[in-house]
This record gives sequence, C-alpha cells and structure tokens, in this order.
Amino acid sequence: MKVAKFGGSSVKDAVAMNRCADLICAQDALSVVVVSATKNTTNELELIAGTAKEGLVEDSLKLVDHLEKRHCEICSDIEDLPENKAFLGEILKEARVLVNEISKKKDYSKEDMDSLYCLGERMSSFLFTKLLQSKTKKKVILKDARRFIKTDSTFCAAVAQVDQISAAVAKELLPDLSSDSIIVTQGFIGTDEQGRNTTLGREGSDYSATLIGEAIGANEVQIWTDVAGVATFDPRLIDDTRFIGELSYEEASTLALLGAKVLYPKTLFPAKRKNIPVFVGSTLDPKAGGTRIHGNCERKTGPRGLSFLKNSEGNLLSLVGAELGDLDIPYKKVGESSVSQSFLVEDEKLDEALIELHKVVLSHY
Ligand code: ADP
Ligand code: ASP
Ligand code: MG
Repeated sequence: MKVAKFGGSSVKDAVAMNRCADLICAQDALSVVVVSATKNTTNELELIAGTAKEGLVEDSLKLVDHLEKRHCEICSDIEDLPENKAFLGEILKEARVLVNEISKKKDYSKEDMDSLYCLGERMSSFLFTKLLQSKTKKKVILKDARRFIKTDSTFCAAVAQVDQISAAVAKELLPDLSSDSIIVTQGFIGTDEQGRNTTLGREGSDYSATLIGEAIGANEVQIWTDVAGVATFDPRLIDDTRFIGELSYEEASTLALLGAKVLYPKTLFPAKRKNIPVFVGSTLDPKAGGTRIHGNCERKTGPRGLSFLKNSEGNLLSLVGAELGDLDIPYKKVGESSVSQSFLVEDEKLDEALIELHKVVLSHY
C-alpha cells in the first residue's frame, strides 16, 4: 500500500490535476491520495480573513467570489455539472458566514482561521475525486481527513496525536482500503478532541501523508511536487544545484528542519518511526526520477546539501551530511549536530555565502 501526496502547484488546475491522476492510474498499489489546496488558495484564505478583519466586508466577499469562480472553472474542465458547482458553493457558504462574523468583531481567532483554511483542501479534494472517478475503474472514495487526523487544540499549528490517528484511521479508512479502491483525502487539516477544525501548520500536507502512511502501515509515501526531488539547495535560488538520489531520514529531516521548504519539517518523523521509504518527485517531470529517503542508504559522508533559514538571530546557513569534520568555513559556527553545521551570515554577505557554501557541497559530489 502506498500513499501519494500532491502539492498546491501540482493540483493548481484541471491540466495539472490530470497529470497527477495519470501518475496515480499508472500505479496499482496506490491506496491513498492526499491533496493540498490548489495553488495560492491558502494565501487567499489568509487575505480573506485579513480583509474581513479590517471591516472591509464587501472586499472580503469579493475575494471569496474570486475563489469560487476559480474552483468552478476547474470544475467546468473536470465535470461540468450544476450539482458539483453547488457543492463548491456550499463549502464557500462557510467562508461567507465567517467573513461576516470576522468583519463584525473586527478580529479573528486562530480557530476561525483554521475553519477558513480547511475550505481550500475541502474544495481541491472534491474536484480531484471527481477527476479521478472519471479516469479509473477503481472505486474512488473521498474521505474527510478531519475524521481521522486527530490533533491537540493548538489552532494553526496543531500537534498530531499519533495514537488517536491510528485508532481513527483503523475505523474510518482501513475498512475501505482494497486493491479495487483509491481513497482521496485532504492534507493539512484535522480536528481536536472536541471536533473543532485544526491545521498542522502551513505546508503541513506532507506531514499528513506520512502520518496516514504510518497509520495504514504503508510501504511507501510519495511526495509529488514541482521539483524532481530534494536538491543540494533550493533550485529556484541558485543555478547549479543537483538533485540528491538518496538521503537518510536524519539528513532529509535536518535539511527540512533547517529550512529546505521542499519538505514540511516534521514529515519524516512518522516515516522514520515505521521505516517507510519516502519518495520525492516532480509531477511536471515524473521521469526525471527523484529523491529516495529511507533507512538503508549507502553511507556517504561530508556535506550533501545546504539549507537556509532566516530566524531571530539572522541568516542561518547549514551544511547537512554525516561526519562533516573540520570544514574550513569563514563564518561564525553557531550550531552543530551529528549531521549538520550551521553558520550565521550577515545580510551583506548572504548571496556570496550561499554560493560559497554550495560550492563546498558540490565539491563532495
Ligand atoms: P508543494 O506545494 O508541492 O508542497 P513547495 O513549494 O512546498 O511545494 O515545495 C517545493 C519547493 O521547495 C520547490 O519549488 C523549491 O523552490 C523549494 N525548495 C527549497 N529547498 C529545496 C531543496 N533543497 N530541494 C528542492 N526544492 C527546494
Ligand atoms: N495548503 C496548505 C498551505 O498552503 C498546506 C499545504 O499545501 O501543505 O500551507
Ligand atoms: Mg510544501
């Protein structure tokens, strides 16, 4: 059994969703599909809340209309039925109620934000289910992740409750898992003990996928995104990056925790606990291969990747890899672990330092 997660840019419209559906249909053992909200939807939901908070109720409702129009356009390309659009309208009715409440009190709580956030993934998963139903003979079942992703009540940054998730997945998902079915569900969203909407933190859908993988005993979790794996550094920020063929859980986790946005920081924790291999690849170029993160990597030492994080201390650049030893780096070392060394770099030297430290990484390939 495999779990596959598709990020926002991979489900941004019907064409992109079709690429994901083709990838799913080409794999027989894929049991659970986890989708993010369509590209930019989560940001738009934040803007809707912020605009309502200013008391600009009409402007905020216009933004909801825009969100509805965008999703209805995708719906027209997938299955142009009035009841589908009505369903999207029902979901966004909840947004309109919240907008009115927020603009009245000129404030919103994190709990309000979580209820708004959920709408994005609820719409994308509905559309994706419709598309997948039209492309496979298997039974495609949409499941609401809020029934089994159980969390504490830290709204907007909820902590997953692994034992409760396992029990809820056994009840809500396992009975429907079979070689003849595919379950589609939402990343990012969950509920607390009182059944209130929560989210795992921005970009948290990757983590939903491995939590589900852990709970169903998957033998692989696939994270499909817009780049062909984990690279030596963010390929959008510097030119000569390389995709890394394989990484240990520790290396990949450390790269993510120290800033590599390609994976949500906690993603590999469930995978490591259950020794589940994680594949990261691109829906735009699935044949390009990707990165395999697992517990049996060929042991490689020295820097394998570079991460960048801006925090309260400043610009933190981290080399990640096993046995880094004494590297001749002309910046202040401010942290170290068994697989990383971190350096603090002033703003004026940041671009230069990124290039230099990345060269150090490449010299070890
Ligand atoms: P998704 O919407 O699929 O979750 P994200 O935008 O969260 O996608 O993550 C993919 C992006 O992560 C890439 O487009 C890339 O710019 C960025 N990124 C940052 N660091 C790395 C890295 N080391 N390797 C690959 N991509 C990285
Ligand atoms: N849709 C959420 C976000 O944009 C979660 C995710 O995509 O992982 O943060
Ligand atoms: Mg992401």
